[in-house]
Amino acid sequence: MNNREVHLIHRPVGLPSKDDFALIETDIPEPKDGEILVKNLYFSVDPYMRGRMVDRKSYVPPFQLNRPMSGGSVGKILKSFNKNFSEGDYVFGFNGWREYYISDGVGLMKIDPNLAPIQTYLSVLGMTGFTAYIGLFEIGKLKENETVFVSAAAGAVGSIVCQIAKIYGCKVIGSAGSDEKVQWLLNELGIDASFNYKNTSNLLVEIGKLCPNGIDLYFDNVGGEFLDAALFNMANFGRVVICGMISQYNKPKPDPLYNLILSIQKRLTIRGFLVSDYNDKLFEFLGKMSKWYTERKIQQEETIVDGIEHAIDAFLGLFSGNNLGKMLVKLSNDS
Ligand code: NDP
Repeated sequence: MNNREVHLIHRPVGLPSKDDFALIETDIPEPKDGEILVKNLYFSVDPYMRGRMVDRKSYVPPFQLNRPMSGGSVGKILKSFNKNFSEGDYVFGFNGWREYYISDGVGLMKIDPNLAPIQTYLSVLGMTGFTAYIGLFEIGKLKENETVFVSAAAGAVGSIVCQIAKIYGCKVIGSAGSDEKVQWLLNELGIDASFNYKNTSNLLVEIGKLCPNGIDLYFDNVGGEFLDAALFNMANFGRVVICGMISQYNKPKPDPLYNLILSIQKRLTIRGFLVSDYNDKLFEFLGKMSKWYTERKIQQEETIVDGIEHAIDAFLGLFSGNNLGKMLVKLSNDS
């Protein structure tokens, strides 16, 4: 049995293609004294990874060419020569895009498979849920009974944002890229209104119809024309949480924003954030989110792609909306 890992072999221009990546087979490494051998069970594919494919200075270093890529993963310890970890422990780390890895334990966190299925630590109880939580509370200053508009609402972060805002009694409007996603948002998550932006001729008018009194909080996952249309429809003193701009990640030049000028007369607060700046809030988040999760106030939706050989399809699928909830790659049934 061998290890397989995904390498970036070209820096993509525009939408990445399968030729930019290679699936490489290696021997399974042997741990030395102080080390552990981990078998990954799931790893996460995320839109932010597109930025790491570009060779530029940023908040995380670019992926190196001809090396395994990295990202959130959960796995099981097969061998341990490290006193802090035992064989059979489950761990979270940033060692995705490969089936096995060796670690000295630095940066790994033990996870409890009895609290939730282990892949939940990559979604609701992981970075995805944490992003929704920080974005809504630290950045967006969410208050009860507000009007909240969420783009990419049926995605990983967006679907959790919608559910938290509903817990707070808000009127929640979400956009998504298919009629099935719209129905899921309305019927399963119980949000107040939703529309398929691919069937909408005028985003600005559509949002205006659904938010007649203006948006108090816009949670932006998409950027571009979504941000521009939301700016037009913001209520006075509204807050715009810039979480992500997936519509722009493959573009050589960002789309113009025509309505930014309205931020003056509407007295808007527009703020971007990186969830990694808020690690001091992690335990607060885990306390609240695991309570909501066990009380079934927040549900977890996943799109699971089986096998590392399909990981690139999973990643590329984020840009064509193939996922409902969190996109994950499953590597093994051994959990
Ligand atoms: P999602 O699960 O939401 O997946 C991306 C979704 O975006 C797709 O399912 C698709 O849904 C939608 N989408 C893709 N391309 C476009 C487009 N051109 N126009 C409109 N919608 C599009 O991903 P995540 O939940 O992981 O991430 C959501 C956002 O949050 C991303 O922008 C990401 O970069 C950002 N992020 C930011 C973090 C931070 O610290 N600031 C941390 C984590 C994520 P549909 O079918 O609706 O089109």
